[in-house]
Amino acid sequence: MVLQDLGRRINAAVSDLTRSANLDEKAFDDMIKEICSALLSADVNVKLVGQLRKSIRAQVSFKDLPTHTNKKRIIQKAVFDQLVALVDPHAEPFKPRKGKPNVIMFVGLQGAGKTTTCTKLARHYQTRGFKACLVCADTFRAGAFDQLKQNATRAKIPFYGNLTQTDPAVVALEGVTRFKKERFEIIIVDTSGRHRQEADLFNEMVQIQKAVQPDQTIMVLDATIGQQAEAQSKAFKETADFGSIIITKTDGSASGGGAISAVAATHTPIVFIGTGEHMLDLEKFQPRTFISRLLGMGDMAGLVEHVQSLKLDQKDTMKHIQEGIFTVRDLRDQIQNMMKMGPLSKMAGMIPGLSNMMEGMNDEDGTMKMKRMIYICDSMTDKELDSDGKLFINEPARMTRVAHGSGTSVREVEDLLSQQRMMAGMVKKMGGMQKNMKNAQGAL
Ligand code: GDP
Repeated sequence: MVLQDLGRRINAAVSDLTRSANLDEKAFDDMIKEICSALLSADVNVKLVGQLRKSIRAQVSFKDLPTHTNKKRIIQKAVFDQLVALVDPHAEPFKPRKGKPNVIMFVGLQGAGKTTTCTKLARHYQTRGFKACLVCADTFRAGAFDQLKQNATRAKIPFYGNLTQTDPAVVALEGVTRFKKERFEIIIVDTSGRHRQEADLFNEMVQIQKAVQPDQTIMVLDATIGQQAEAQSKAFKETADFGSIIITKTDGSASGGGAISAVAATHTPIVFIGTGEHMLDLEKFQPRTFISRLLGMGDMAGLVEHVQSLKLDQKDTMKHIQEGIFTVRDLRDQIQNMMKMGPLSKMAGMIPGLSNMMEGMNDEDGTMKMKRMIYICDSMTDKELDSDGKLFINEPARMTRVAHGSGTSVREVEDLLSQQRMMAGMVKKMGGMQKNMKNAQGAL
């Protein structure tokens, strides 16, 4: 079961109960049963589900519950708290120090998403002001170095590899030593995920660990592997003793519960989750936020952080909005910013209530629609883009020209202009309000 479906099922169970007219103990038991069955079909470990059932019951002592409204709130809170406890390892995740070399070693099976995630993490720290780089210590798989090199080059991150050296511990040490000398602050070492014998793989991990003495070892775990996650992470923990976990592919058709159970079993914090193949698809993992989002309660803090990390250029539009103006170009810039943010469904998950509204809407359709709007704008002249759109109404031939030039229809051009008019109307009102407020403040 996909994580989103799990959230929807749990949510439905809680809403059914809190909406029902007779909120009795049987209805409460049915809700717990439904939540547990949803968790089990998402591959969450049976023992953990049993614990959750007990702890919800313990937190809500049904017989002592007060009035109807409070009852609902108490039950909702208990479900939320216990789900948070399920994914919370109660251990502080590693925090890199500024101005010092932080060596981070990645371990995990081949295909888990190590190489992709290494680059995502380096980029994450780079955009937060750290000097970050990558070292390829996978000498087993032909092509590993090229893959990392390609990713690193695309993200403009320095990297090190050695195609002639066959000992991964030697390559790792060479890379780390060089980057330490060059005063890099985040040095990420990617390792191999496969060998002819499993024992060789584990032996190699130990050798690399000994050579580079990482400040942090991160295990990369694929969310799609379900129940195997626990055995796998235990085996890695015994050998490489990782301090944090990154779960990848949480966007896929995965029953991410297996990975969640693995975390509970190893008492290791999940630091990030991978939410797609793109470089930006890495999110900080926080138990409360994760559960809020799972249950469709939104994650405004995550949204703000995501938007800030994109470093969108909003200057001109913000200035315009303050002046009560919103041109066609402003609309174009906003659409482009929206497209930079990633798939619509992901954004919707961060905005309270929006994921329900987006249900059934396809990302591809949404993105295509935005792309066509950009094509329309790109067929306009500067004068048209910087206008308030009225010149199109006065001279409709302009619309036909733009539709033709952009390979779209006049109807689509009209829709775009009416969208811009609507936003301009809102912005004008806001600008007017600000002016009135300033005048009022001036009068005081
Ligand atoms: P490695 O063998 O562990 O280094 O794995 P790779 O980094 O080569 O990743 C294996 C595949 O998983 C690639 O096709 C990646 O694009 C894909 N992948 C990695 N992380 C994610 C993720 O968070 N979501 C999705 N959908 N795919 C991912």
